[in-house]
Amino acid sequence: TPAEQGHPSADCLRFTGIHKRFGSFKALDGIDLSIRKGEFLCLLGPSGCGKTTLLRILAGLETQDAGSLHMAGRDISRLPPAARDYGIVFQSYALFPNLTVAGNIAYGLRTSRQAQGRRVAELLDLVGLPGSESRFPSQLSGGQQQRVALARALATSPSLLLLDEPLSALDAQVREHLRAELRLLQQKLGVTTIMVTHDQEEALALADTIAVMRHGRIEQVGSPEQIYRQPANRFVAEFVGHANWLPVHCDDMGTLRLAGIPLASSFAMPTGLASAEATLFCRPEDVRVEPHWQPANNTLMAVVERVDFLGGLRRASLSLCAAREIVLVADVSPNDAGFSALVPGQRVPVTLPADRLRLFQGSVL
Ligand code: ATP
Repeated sequence: TPAEQGHPSADCLRFTGIHKRFGSFKALDGIDLSIRKGEFLCLLGPSGCGKTTLLRILAGLETQDAGSLHMAGRDISRLPPAARDYGIVFQSYALFPNLTVAGNIAYGLRTSRQAQGRRVAELLDLVGLPGSESRFPSQLSGGQQQRVALARALATSPSLLLLDEPLSALDAQVREHLRAELRLLQQKLGVTTIMVTHDQEEALALADTIAVMRHGRIEQVGSPEQIYRQPANRFVAEFVGHANWLPVHCDDMGTLRLAGIPLASSFAMPTGLASAEATLFCRPEDVRVEPHWQPANNTLMAVVERVDFLGGLRRASLSLCAAREIVLVADVSPNDAGFSALVPGQRVPVTLPADRLRLFQGSVL
């Protein structure tokens, strides 16, 4: 097979038809997913969607009811955890409190004492804690403990690194710092990594590929850019950011109209949409507030309803003059030309850039 020949596009890991029930509850309902060698994949979804269960099945800590797991072409579905080649980091640091840092990291190493010492020093350098061998977990901060947990997971140079919400117990500043380091480290080592998270910002920042999960199923798999820009459905769109949903009508000529006003778009109109209702999607940062009226494609008049201060941005709610019940949200930065026009009650032109619109058939509202 291509995998055995080390084909560059070969999957490192493949889940096929994974099902798992707890009693009558379907935790996983048919998971198919492949991960390339060296890829950083995030399993992203709300609490209870089954992401941890999927990771635990991969680790052999839980058994699937149906389906198979292949790693580099080899069936690992029934192997015990110790025979699967991975390192794992959990949310709670899970270090042995009675062992030193060195003892924790060397725990799974079956080499000579000397070789262990060298390996521990190398790993502590790698995770940014050089010289901490003889400290105890209780003497370390949360972030430092998670670095040690990471060093321990990497000690045997596993082909897979599994991360179960490794950053979520840390405070925001440490979390962001460690997130950046984790990404650099993963790229440097090229280790295939699967991380479970419910934090969309973390997934967008870290992953090569995101698999968005809901109710035990995968809703969409794609790059962070694809997931954010071309969400497959409303759930995905709203899980990774704010979204505008605008009711549009497609007339007999195939023209989209918003509040009766014809719109230009850069997507091909799906066939069979004539005289039908549809919904346009766009992100708040894509809506442009204009300083002056100029007739242009997709520029409509709106009234500023309210403006929220978001630090670097203002988030404005605008209702369309042609249909006041249609409200759209625009994120405007002080550098944008229309920024000073954002006064509640003010009428402003807004533009919906054709290349930032996405069409969903029917009403998703
Ligand atoms: P979280 O972010 O909260 O951990 P998750 O997406 O990782 O969520 P899982 O931990 O995979 O979700 O759990 C999926 C569902 O299966 C949950 O509703 C959970 O209550 C249930 N579940 C998980 N493990 C067991 C178990 N051993 N026995 C019974 N139910 C379980």
